[in-house]
Amino acid sequence: MSIEDLPSTFVAALIDIVGASDVVTAADQRASYEVDWTGRFRGVTPAVVRPADTAEVAAIVALCRREGVAIVAQGGNTGLVAGGVPMAGELIVSLRRIDAVGDVDLSARQITVGAGATLAAVRTAAAAAGLAYAVDLGARDTATIGGTIATNAGGLNLIRYGGTREQLVGVEAVLGTGETISHLGGLIKDNTGYHLPSLLCGSEGTLGIVTAARLRLVTRHDHRVTALLAFADAHAAVEAVSDLRSRLDSLESAELVLDAGVCLVCEAFDLRSPFADPHPVYVLIDVADSHDPTDDVASAVGALTTMRDAAVATDDAQRALLWRYREDHTLALNTLGKPHKLDVTLPLDRLAEFIDTVPTVVRGVAPHGQTWLFGHVGDGNIHVNISGVDPDDEAGDDAVLGYVASLGGSISAEHGIGTAKKRWLHLSRSTEEIDAMRAIKRALDPDDILNPNVLLP
Ligand SMILES: Cc1cc2nc3c(=O)[nH]c(=O)nc-3n(C[C@H](O)[C@H](O)[C@H](O)COP(=O)(O)OP(=O)(O)OC[C@H]3O[C@@H](n4cnc5c(N)ncnc54)[C@H](O)[C@@H]3O)c2cc1C
Repeated sequence: MSIEDLPSTFVAALIDIVGASDVVTAADQRASYEVDWTGRFRGVTPAVVRPADTAEVAAIVALCRREGVAIVAQGGNTGLVAGGVPMAGELIVSLRRIDAVGDVDLSARQITVGAGATLAAVRTAAAAAGLAYAVDLGARDTATIGGTIATNAGGLNLIRYGGTREQLVGVEAVLGTGETISHLGGLIKDNTGYHLPSLLCGSEGTLGIVTAARLRLVTRHDHRVTALLAFADAHAAVEAVSDLRSRLDSLESAELVLDAGVCLVCEAFDLRSPFADPHPVYVLIDVADSHDPTDDVASAVGALTTMRDAAVATDDAQRALLWRYREDHTLALNTLGKPHKLDVTLPLDRLAEFIDTVPTVVRGVAPHGQTWLFGHVGDGNIHVNISGVDPDDEAGDDAVLGYVASLGGSISAEHGIGTAKKRWLHLSRSTEEIDAMRAIKRALDPDDILNPNVLLP
């Protein structure tokens, strides 16, 4: 749909709601909203609307419902499954202006924030009050709280604190009906029916547009140790993580990277190799406590009989350098083109087998495809990136997701389904489950105007 396809009265009504400067129609100003972070998914929108508060969002949704105009909600646009870009010509509702970060409620250890607040802004506010927001991920400076709720973002600290759903005490949202639900009181014991925050969390903008959230905060640990541990193979690495989890309560992250990925990062960003001799598999761990955990780490790591080498960092600069070998993977991969990105979870006892075999599975259907693996190994979550294949060639995706399902895994660990993975949803959800999801969608968005092309096939 282009701006010419919208009745001029519709555009005038949008301007009445948010003001002329926040209805963006010029092609050059729409451009960054129309393409996803990877550059692989590009759509066209007639306009980007930027409401300033919940009432404006409600008025936009009511207008769109009346006029039959489909909406895509967009936060930071760091999603990786083409869920927040207008792949079918939808109107974009950008939540970035609704970015207030409230005061930290120290006694409840909670905070209320606008959906457009970035993850980094919330983490900074929590830290200033001596607490922490438990969800963290590489796109922290751009990803918004609304986006992390819509995708139930997992991230780097899930093994210790759980994902976004576990942090969500309450939400405010505008449903597809145009009605607003608001439950931000912060009661952590509240058994009064369906837990709507949990339902909206992970719904990928298909049921409601989140405008605010009440979030749980956790203890901030000022003493941190990061270590990069080297192993001969994935089996040894996966076993070591399970061992470390039982020995170290303060283990916050356990991230797996392979030598090929580390070499790519070193090449792309001119970094030195972490060890004099390379090793096939590495696990990056982060440990945080209220006392210096160096001795705890030394003792837990010392007990790993299969570990070949270790680099340990206690000061912030050295820790940041070790983290670059993991976090710079995504940017380094982008230097190879527009990779296909899959994020999958495997049962822990099938994870090493998956890591060993999946490159062969990809080569079987995409001989020129190169497979890159890294991810949150403690959660069984591996990011599978395939470079060297045409953006439209999904043979590799199909083979990998089929293989994941055959091992009892999930086709999406944390990025969601979006539009990119809809056709494979049946691999992880039964017909009955998909029917139940459709029934919920019909109840909360009867005219199918919210992200109608996302999630449900
Ligand atoms: C470098 C990098 C690292 C990443 N690491 C991780 C990681 O470790 N773990 C992880 O889970 N993800 C990760 N991601 C993916 C991404 O950051 C998350 O999915 C994040 O939650 C998206 O937030 P966003 O604000 O950018 O949402 P967007 O990309 O704008 O939108 C994502 C989805 O949410 C919907 N949406 C957005 N805002 C709202 C709202 N207010 N109400 C309703 N629906 C909404 C959109 O319609 C879309 O379907 C990473 C991405 C990058 C680029």
